[in-house]
This record gives sequence, C-alpha cells and structure tokens, in this order.
Amino acid sequence: MDKLIYLDNAATTKTAPEVVEAMLPYFTENYGNPSSVYSFASGNKDVITRQREIIADTLGAAANEIYFTAGGSESDNWALKATAEAYAGKGKHIITTKIEHHAILHTCEYLEKQGYDVTYLDVDENGIVRMDELKAAIRPDTILISIMFANNEIGTIQPIREIGELAHERGILFHTDAVQAFCQVPINVDECHIDMLSASAHKLNGPKGIGFLYIRKGVKIRSFVHGGAQERKRRAGTENVPGIVGFGKAVERAAASLKERTTKEVELRDYLIDRIEKEIPYCRLNGDRKKRLPNNVNFSFRFVEGESLLIKLDMKGICASSGSACTSGSLDPSHVLLAIGLPHEIAHGSLRMTLSEETTKEELDYVVGSLKEIVENLRNMSPLYEDFIKKQNR
Ligand SMILES: *Cc1c(COP(=O)(O)O)cnc(C)c1O
Repeated sequence: MDKLIYLDNAATTKTAPEVVEAMLPYFTENYGNPSSVYSFASGNKDVITRQREIIADTLGAAANEIYFTAGGSESDNWALKATAEAYAGKGKHIITTKIEHHAILHTCEYLEKQGYDVTYLDVDENGIVRMDELKAAIRPDTILISIMFANNEIGTIQPIREIGELAHERGILFHTDAVQAFCQVPINVDECHIDMLSASAHKLNGPKGIGFLYIRKGVKIRSFVHGGAQERKRRAGTENVPGIVGFGKAVERAAASLKERTTKEVELRDYLIDRIEKEIPYCRLNGDRKKRLPNNVNFSFRFVEGESLLIKLDMKGICASSGSACTSGSLDPSHVLLAIGLPHEIAHGSLRMTLSEETTKEELDYVVGSLKEIVENLRNMSPLYEDFIKKQNR
C-alpha cells in the first residue's frame, strides 16, 4: 500500500480538520487575552465557558467542575499531588494499580518519597482489578483511590462503577485516569461516583498540549500553578484559547459519533483479532476480550522480538507500537504486560495496534498479510524457534 497505515491511535491521533478549522481564528483574529477588559478580548472568556459546558455535558458534570490543563500527564499529577497535600491531615495512604500510566506511577513514587504510603494493586491475567483485593487494601488512613478507566496498552476497562461505589461508601476520594476512555466509552461521573477525572484532547482527534481535570464540587484541592486567577485560581496562566476551542470541537464531534464510531471499531477490532488468532500460530491476545477499548488490539508473538517487528512493519508503512521500552533506552518489557503475568520473553514479543474511525478492512487485510510474513521471517531467524520446532517434531 502506498498510503501510511496508522495504527497507533493510543499514542496520539490525527487532529480532525474541523478541529483545526475551529482553532485557526483564535490564532489569527481572536488572539486577545480572555482576562483583558476590552470587548475584543473578553469575548474569549465566553468562548472558553462554552467549551467547558460542552465537555461537562458529556460527563454529566457542571461546567465549573472542569479545569483546563496542559494534558493528561498534568491532570494526573495535579489530582494526586494536590489531594495528597490537602488531605494529609486525614491520612497519607493512596491506593492505585500496577498497570497505571507513568504519569500516575511516577507521581506515586514521588509521593512515597514525601512520606506517603502507596499500595499498588495487582490485576488478574486480563488486567482487571479484583474488588476483594481493593477492599482489603483500604485502611483508616486511605485518602485516595486512583484507578485508570481503561488501560493504554492492553485496552482493559476496569469496573469503574463498583470501584466508585466502594470509595464513596468508605468516604475515600476516587480519581480515574480516563485519558484512553473519554469519548470512547460513555462516562457519567455521578453514576460512577468519580471525584476527579483526567482527560487529554490529543487522544480524541484534538490538539496536543491541552487536557482537563474534572474536580467534583466540594473536593478540597490545592492550586497546581500559582499566579493569576485563571481556572478558578487553581491553575494560573493565560488560557490556551486555541487549544481549548480545539478540545471543545473534538469532544463535540467525538461525543456525537460515539455509538456509531465505536460499533464500527469493535467490528474491525474483532475482525483483526480473529484473523491473527486463526492465521498466526503461537500468539496470545493480551487484555480482556470483551471489557476492552473498542479500538485496542494487543498480541504477544512467541519467538519474536517486538522492536524488530515494529521496524519491519514500518518498512511496510504500518505504524504500531510494542510493549517494550527499548526505544527509551531500557530493555525492560512493559510493566503492564508483566503485571498480567507474562514472562519477560513473551512480553518482549508484543505488538499494540490501535484503530481509528478512519481504519478500513482493506488496511487490516494488508496488515495481517504483512504480519504473517514478518513473524514467519523473524521466527525463521530465531534459534529458540528452531529448537522449539525440533522438539515438536521429535
Ligand atoms: C496518553 C496518556 C496520558 C498522558 O496524556 P498526555 O496528554 O500525553 O500528557 C495519561 N494517561 C493515559 C492512560 C494515556 O494514555
């Protein structure tokens, strides 16, 4: 295929043309600072409020519970650090999981150095938190439970409502990193008893560098950036007006198409899973088959090295992602794949493909064809595979 096949939508997505179009006037004509008094600029305040309303509506929240940030990582940092500080008088214990994004895990490690105690829950073989283990982890000094809505690597969706109900019953705050789930799965913050929720625009065809933290009214939360009075004095800095407008547009469009888009994605996702399972031997689907993001496919291929797979796929114009972090200078396989119990050598041979609304069946047919050929070639060069086949034939 001459066209690029982009199957890395969990890493980032293409900014939708109508999003770019909506943003442009806020760079060119309407560049005023929303805090200024003259009407040329102050109109931008209403524009921001409107975007807050659009976002709040999709969550069943109120507009003044939405705080704009510079993205998912900042929202996660804010939720954890500020609650830790504000509720330190009540206790210093936080519960999270072993499969969170590094924006949560590394913030927890930082908090441990500040004297907080963090419990990292195990997950089952599909990546789902066990409710009895969560219950058992709760202590009188637990102030916060932070569990992601859906996992960015294996796509597993957590029992968020049950977790929220439990947290609510025990009077513990509940934060969820919903960066992957927002606008992919319907979310209502009241039904799920969510007190704080992180999201990011660039994961849903919006621009990079803009996100929000939903903070339920009544939650004591400290300011994250000190300075001006923006974001109800909680997060100072001149608003990223074009980004906020782009985010609003992205949410509007993603919310309107949610059902239709995800139905189509689920169909294509399952088609891809079926074909790989039927046509490529010695592979394993990672993550839950049903409680799974509509666009996530993650496989481990035995006797194959994930990085080599990615390079060969790249040569065929296919963009995907592996579960190992070799590119960042470490040879450790993904913490998520290890947490679901994969041995190192199997975790190393993992591949994540995340679809978009633009993905077609023809593209996936080309991907399966390429994958079959590449996996076979790589295995033919593997001494481990050779041994394995010899033993099989004995
Ligand atoms: C992408 C991602 C983040 C980070 O969001 P940024 O906007 O890139 O900072 C956090 N959590 C999850 C689950 C993600 O997928």
